[in-house]
Amino acid sequence: MLGYGTIFHAQPNTIHHSLAEIEAKGHLVGVVAQNVDLLHHNAGGRNVIELHGTLARVECQSCGRAILRDEFQQIQPDLGPALRPDGDLDVALEFGQFAYPPCHKCGNEEVTTPTATVKSNIPPKVMQQAAELVGKGSGGLVVGSTLTTYSAYRLVCDLHTAGKPVWCIKKGPMRADALLARKIEAPIQEIMADVVEMH
Ligand SMILES: [Zn+2]
Repeated sequence: MLGYGTIFHAQPNTIHHSLAEIEAKGHLVGVVAQNVDLLHHNAGGRNVIELHGTLARVECQSCGRAILRDEFQQIQPDLGPALRPDGDLDVALEFGQFAYPPCHKCGNEEVTTPTATVKSNIPPKVMQQAAELVGKGSGGLVVGSTLTTYSAYRLVCDLHTAGKPVWCIKKGPMRADALLARKIEAPIQEIMADVVEMH
């Protein structure tokens, strides 16, 4: 995808800011996000796990060395055309013209953002980190997700099994409806603003 800069500098909305604010006040242990758009980070979230990967890092597929994506983006323009491919956009350019920066540690040229796709599963390490973060809370709050992906649904199941209440703010059905202690079917931004006020 062209335009990493656009994503990295994308503006979080009031929901992202509300969650970050509640976390800063100590009422939220962290956020497990299903997006890879960095918006929870950009809003100031501290403990954010991007379940389906992140665009904030680039990892070597051989030795595992990771560098910050911003650092990688600084290297890239010197090595090839002004192209920043990292996803699923059709690019009018011969890929053979593009020199990909190799790993600084082992020289391997297969470096990529650690994002899960349809073909790749979420690494066990990430699932474990998410489960640990969720386990620290006294309950859970699902905001706007249908929990269609099993990985996210499983975290709610874990909370339910542990006897911890799970609330959800979302209009319409979602996968874990039967497990919820309470469901609020109202506009998320309004509810989150109220939650921030309460705390
Ligand atoms: Zn390497």
